[in-house]
Amino acid sequence: MNLIFFGAPGVGKGTQAEKLAARLGIPHISTGAIFRAALQQGKELGLRAREYMDRGALVPDELTTAIVVEALQEPENANGFILDGYPRNLSQAEDLERALAEQGRGIDSVLYLTAPQHEIVERMLARGRNDDTEDVINHRLEVYRQETEPVLKFYQDRELVREVYGVGGIDEVHDRVFDAAKVAAES
Ligand code: ADP
Repeated sequence: MNLIFFGAPGVGKGTQAEKLAARLGIPHISTGAIFRAALQQGKELGLRAREYMDRGALVPDELTTAIVVEALQEPENANGFILDGYPRNLSQAEDLERALAEQGRGIDSVLYLTAPQHEIVERMLARGRNDDTEDVINHRLEVYRQETEPVLKFYQDRELVREVYGVGGIDEVHDRVFDAAKVAAES
C-alpha cells in the first residue's frame, strides 16, 4: 500500500507514520528525518537543507524531490511505503504523481491527521527541536497554510483523503490511523 501522511507541522505525523509502518511492515520515508540525518552526518545535503529548516522555510523542490524519487526507486520501497512530510506543495504533489505513474504506481490513500492549532503549537514547543522556537513555528504554520494546504485539495479531488483525529494518546490515535489504513486497503 502506498500511503501519504498529511497534516500540519507538529501534528504527530512522524510518530504515527513510524508506528503504522512497523505494524504494516512497510517502510516509512520522512523527508524531514532524511534532512536531519544528513546534517548529523555532516553531508552536503544536510548543510544545504539546514539553512531552510532553521528558518521554517521549505527546502527547495529540486533537492527534496530528488531524495523522494531516489527513495521510490529503492527495492525496499517497491511493495509499498508511507511518505511523511512530502509532498508539501502542489509542485511536489505533481512531481510525485508523475514519478509514480512512470513506475505504473500511484497513491492509494492520504491519511490526514488533524488537531487544533493550540495543541500543535504546544506539542512543538514541548518537543524543543532546533526549528521549534516560537518564531520558526509561526513561520512553518504560515508556509503550511499557504503552500501545503492546497495539496489537500489536490488529493481530495482524487478522492483519496481520509481524515483522522490526532488528539489523544499515541496508541489511541494509532488505532484510528490503523483503522483508516485498513479501510483504505479494502477499498
Ligand atoms: P514538521 O512536520 O514538524 O514540520 P518535518 O520533519 O516534516 O517536521 O520537517 C522539518 C523541516 O524539513 C521543514 O520545516 C522543511 O524545512 C524541511 N522539509 C521537510 N520536508 C520537506 C518537503 N517536502 N519540502 C520542503 N522542505 C521540507
